[in-house]
Amino acid sequence: MNEMDVVFPFVVAVDGPAGSGKSSVSKAVARELGWGFLDTGAAYRALAWHAEASGVDPDDEASVVASLDSFDYRIGTDPDGYRVHVGQTDVTDAIREPGISAIVSRVARVPAVRQRLIELFRGIIAAELRGGIVVEGRDITTVVAPDAPVRILLTASEEVRMSRRAAELVGVDASVTGEQLRARDRADSKVVDFMTAADGVTTVDSTELDFDATVAAVIRVIRDSQPVAG
Ligand code: C5P
Repeated sequence: MNEMDVVFPFVVAVDGPAGSGKSSVSKAVARELGWGFLDTGAAYRALAWHAEASGVDPDDEASVVASLDSFDYRIGTDPDGYRVHVGQTDVTDAIREPGISAIVSRVARVPAVRQRLIELFRGIIAAELRGGIVVEGRDITTVVAPDAPVRILLTASEEVRMSRRAAELVGVDASVTGEQLRARDRADSKVVDFMTAADGVTTVDSTELDFDATVAAVIRVIRDSQPVAG
C-alpha cells in the first residue's frame, strides 16, 4: 500500500438541537450499517463532570482550561458497547444527570476546550477501523468534519423535542425539563449555529416521523449520497 491508498472511514456528520433524537438515531444508523458511532456531547459532558469532581467553578474559564490537563477521557465507537470513562471511573450514566446538563454549556463555550476536543474527535474518527462512522453533535457538519461526504441536520419542532425529552425523564416536571432544554439550546447556539443547515447539509425533520422512520430517513440520505455506501 502506498500513501495514496490510505482509506479513511466514511464519515456521516449529524448535528441538531437538544432532544432532536440525534444520539439514539445516529447510534441505530451505525448499528444497522455495521459502522462506528461517536457521541461528541458525551465528551463535553464528561469534562463538565471532571471539572465538577475536581472542584472547578464552570464559570472560571482559566480553571476549566487547566482541568483539561488532568482530563483522561476515553470513549469507544461501538454502538452496542458504548461506555464513557474519565480515568478509571465509568461516567456513562453520571454525565446524563440534570446537574451536568445544567453546567455543560458553560464548559463547552470555552474556545480552548473546543479546540482540544475537536482534535480528540478527529483522532477518534481517523482511528475508526469499521468502514464508516456516524458522528453526532452541534458543530460536526461545520467544524469537526466539514468535508464529510454526508452531512445531516436532524431537527424536530420545539414542541415535539420537549415532549420526547419529558417522556424519557419520568417523574420530572415536563415544564422544568422544557425550560432547561430551551435554556441549553439558547446558550449553545451562541457558540455554534446548529438550528439552520449550512451549505450542502441535508435537513431531516423528524417532527412527523417516529423513531424507525427517522432512522430510515437518515439511511436513505446516506445511500442516496453514494451508491456504494453501506
Ligand atoms: O448532545 P448533548 O446534549 O449530549 O450535548 C451536551 C452539550 O455538549 C451541549 O449542550 C453542548 O453544550 C455541548 N456540545 C457542543 N458541541 C458538540 C456536542 C455537544 O458544544 N459537538
